[in-house]
Amino acid sequence: MKKTIALWATLTAVALLVTGCTAEEPSAAAAPLPERTSAPAATPSAQDEAPGAAAAAAYRKWGLKPFAAPPAPPAVKPVVRPAGGPVPVISEIPTREKIVFITIDDGAEKDPGFVRMMKDLKVPFTMFLTDSAIRADYPYFAPLMAQGNGLANHTLTHPNLRTLSPEAQRREICGQQTKLKERYGTTPRLFRPPYGNWNEATRAAAGECGLDAIVLWRESMQIKNMQYQRGDRKLHPGDIVLAHFRGPSELKGRTMTEMTATMLRKIQEQGFTVARLEDYV
Ligand SMILES: [Zn+2]
Repeated sequence: MKKTIALWATLTAVALLVTGCTAEEPSAAAAPLPERTSAPAATPSAQDEAPGAAAAAAYRKWGLKPFAAPPAPPAVKPVVRPAGGPVPVISEIPTREKIVFITIDDGAEKDPGFVRMMKDLKVPFTMFLTDSAIRADYPYFAPLMAQGNGLANHTLTHPNLRTLSPEAQRREICGQQTKLKERYGTTPRLFRPPYGNWNEATRAAAGECGLDAIVLWRESMQIKNMQYQRGDRKLHPGDIVLAHFRGPSELKGRTMTEMTATMLRKIQEQGFTVARLEDYV
């Protein structure tokens, strides 16, 4: 299975060069969303129960319907780093469940509305943060972590790692491990190379810096479209979905919460629910 995963990663590496973190969608007329970032803060509600009235109300506030509860996490994680072996490189999690995993990168946009939204919705996601993008406001991300969302490494300065020496790659990756630990008290386990660009030196560096997996993606959320790597343009069980902390200046006037609502609707429309990546890798 690990060989299969590694092969997928290799086969998709070229495609990733094209889709990358900066991929943009063609402009299209923006359909208004029912709710804006000005939605009021959530009132506390029962968190771990099946979607009930409180959850339905919280979702309605953002123009959404509650997600189905994800299946219980597997007893044994399907992706593990073999003892003494290379760090696995994944774009999806092997599963037959209709689940996907949301990952949000960089950290440039710091929209308070997004914190309120995710407090309401309780949809799990993993943040791959870059120091140069977050250093102007480290505290912004703390409440998102307090909600239970994952903290992961996306380098100190967002370089194309393929252009760097092994030593420089180590500085970017290990340096961000140290920074995130200092700032948030948590040591990341997952790493994403900027633009999805990596080589064997990246893999070695990630292992030396204490990371357990290199996480790529299958779909990339743009302003209002989802970019699919597969020709069938559909979500598949276990897909990892990439989005970014982006605001109106990068989203043609749309907000982070509008982008997020659109992404969640696209996941829901295809009959999928969202699970926690850290439960599977
Ligand atoms: Zn990035």
